[in-house]
Amino acid sequence: MKQNYNKHIKLLCATCGSGDFFEKNEKTDVITCKKCNRVYHGGYDELVELNQKNINSEVESMKQEVKKDIIKDLNSMFKKTGFKLK
Ligand SMILES: [Zn+2]
Repeated sequence: MKQNYNKHIKLLCATCGSGDFFEKNEKTDVITCKKCNRVYHGGYDELVELNQKNINSEVESMKQEVKKDIIKDLNSMFKKTGFKLK
C-alpha cells in the first residue's frame, strides 16, 4: 500500500509544503528537501508519516470518486430497468 502512495499521492515537505525538491541519498535513504534544506533522516517512511493527514484525505476523496463511478455505472445499468440510485 505504501508504494501506491508514491504513485498517486504527492508527498509534501512538512516545512515548506513543496513536493518537487526532494533528493534521496541512495546510500543512507535520507531525504533532503532542496528548497528549504529540511532533512528527513527517516527517509521515505518519515515523509509518509508526516503526510499521513494528506494521504488520509486523499484516500477518502479517492474512495468518494470510486463510489461516484460505481453509482454512475449502476445507474446506467439500472436505467434500462427504471431504477435510480442516489
Ligand atoms: Zn522543504
